[in-house]
Amino acid sequence: MRTSAAAAEVLAAANGSPSWAELAARSAACTACPELAAERTTVVVGDAPPRARLALVGEAPGAEEDRAGRPFVGKAGRLLDELLAEAGLRRDEVAVVNVLQCRPPGNRAPRAAEVANCRGWLTRKLDLVRPQVVCALGLTAASWFLGRGVRLGAARGVVHEVDDRRVVVSYHPSAAIRFGPAGMPIAALRSDLAWVASLLDHG
Ligand code: SF4
Repeated sequence: MRTSAAAAEVLAAANGSPSWAELAARSAACTACPELAAERTTVVVGDAPPRARLALVGEAPGAEEDRAGRPFVGKAGRLLDELLAEAGLRRDEVAVVNVLQCRPPGNRAPRAAEVANCRGWLTRKLDLVRPQVVCALGLTAASWFLGRGVRLGAARGVVHEVDDRRVVVSYHPSAAIRFGPAGMPIAALRSDLAWVASLLDHG
């Protein structure tokens, strides 16, 4: 795929960021996606606690995340916190980021050009955090790592090696909420997070 000028600019800015703080400062001024830049309240860079062993990658900020400037703070975030705790993981020891740093208006799905534009930021963030395992939540994030055409059901339960990263995939907490407490996605997400926790080196 050809890299657009906007994506190339992001890549240069991201690769020139020696730290998370510098990347956050540069991201705050990003206008690579004009519609998103015009509509957003904040650029949601994400959480990166020191020495995070696990990074969770979601899709994009929603309305509450856009207002708060943090990822996964709404209903889906509260469910994620609960499921992480059940798996023996604390939210504040896990890096949490999204494929897009800016909220798509009306919570529409991210467009391919926006995903391509933001790729440089996410790649650099993962390089800065260097987690032992990356867990992609939902189809947008799974496709980011494994390519379009990936099927969540088939890709779960396997550690994928992607660009020297160990990547696993699961359902997005929003899907878990949509299908309800008796639905398959919440059971799958619960067991996937427990499995992910078992993959981490606790030393
Ligand atoms: S989504 Fe990413 S690339 Fe697009 S404007 Fe926001 S920070 Fe920039």
